[in-house]
Amino acid sequence: MDVDLPTEPVVPLQVRRQTGSYRLSDFIIHRTLGTGSFGRVHLVRSKHNLRFYAIKVLSKEKIVRMRQVSHTRNEQQMLMAVQHTFIINLWGSFQDSANLYMVMDFVPGGELFTLLRRSNRFPDPVAKFYAAEVALALNYMHSLDIIYRDLKPENILLNADGHIKIADFGFAKHCNTNAWTLCGTPDYLAPEIIRNERYNKSVDWYALGVLIFEMLSGLPPFHEPDASHVVLYEKICAGPAAIRWPPFNALAQDLILKFLEHDPTKRYGNLKHGAGDVFAHPWFREVDWDKLRKREITAPYLPKIASAGDASAFEKYPEDNVAATYGQPVDDLYGDMFPDFDYAGV
Ligand code: AMP
Repeated sequence: MDVDLPTEPVVPLQVRRQTGSYRLSDFIIHRTLGTGSFGRVHLVRSKHNLRFYAIKVLSKEKIVRMRQVSHTRNEQQMLMAVQHTFIINLWGSFQDSANLYMVMDFVPGGELFTLLRRSNRFPDPVAKFYAAEVALALNYMHSLDIIYRDLKPENILLNADGHIKIADFGFAKHCNTNAWTLCGTPDYLAPEIIRNERYNKSVDWYALGVLIFEMLSGLPPFHEPDASHVVLYEKICAGPAAIRWPPFNALAQDLILKFLEHDPTKRYGNLKHGAGDVFAHPWFREVDWDKLRKREITAPYLPKIASAGDASAFEKYPEDNVAATYGQPVDDLYGDMFPDFDYAGV
């Protein structure tokens, strides 16, 4: 559910760092790590330094066809602008006649989603650890006026040391006022997005409330297994009164309710003290935010990684020999639509 509204221009964000200059022939392409609607993410190995990276490959033709040009440009710009210990690092980006390429850190521990489904639900301290790291990352993005807009366990990857790396900035947007594009993942949408109202960064705090609930209970609060999105959206808009609460820590429930507050002007994270209210909430009482930021708190789960480049934490995908199609000369109809992606010879 995403519409590329022409009225939402790509707002330039001051780029804080230089990225490298790469081309496809710098890498050996290994297996697929994940897929999306207009491309896939591969594990790759640099021929130069022999390190492993992840490359996201997006078909320009599909992006244009699915009206995702501004979202894709936003994704690259936002990733260029951010540099944070809990956010994926973009090393560089380029294009050839058919595709866009984004070179990122390979995050080997897999998705938090996989760990959560395997565990059914997390004990309170485990959920709190991941929620606290996410809160730091959101606060950082918001300090740059970036709304992330797609928080969910699939987009939270685990590094080799068990700390998080937030990936997929496909819906992230630089915006210091209000946005109104309908985008995100149904279970995690704030009611104001569903109602097609203008919204702000507080939609990310709403999504953190959904995430905490899902980590503690195993499913998002308004989940409707087989029903249409309409039923789900009705429940989200009806609000938290209808939630059936598993036996949660009362403080966790209190924070979730403060995040799921319908009125964004009353929602935690969006009040006078901003994220300060979140950090000071009693559920997070024992969190040493400074140590957490410096990764000095030991993560609750250490991914089992046999060696560099071990991608066994990721689901297997049919490869369909797709990598062989990259770098083939085709008519380049859309190159000028992605000016931030350098052209590089193959
Ligand atoms: P995305 O389209 O960015 O959501 O990526 C699709 C999937 O690819 C993600 O859900 C991850 O499973 C995987 N993925 C994306 N980026 C990386 C990365 N840098 N390292 C490892 N896996 C990744």
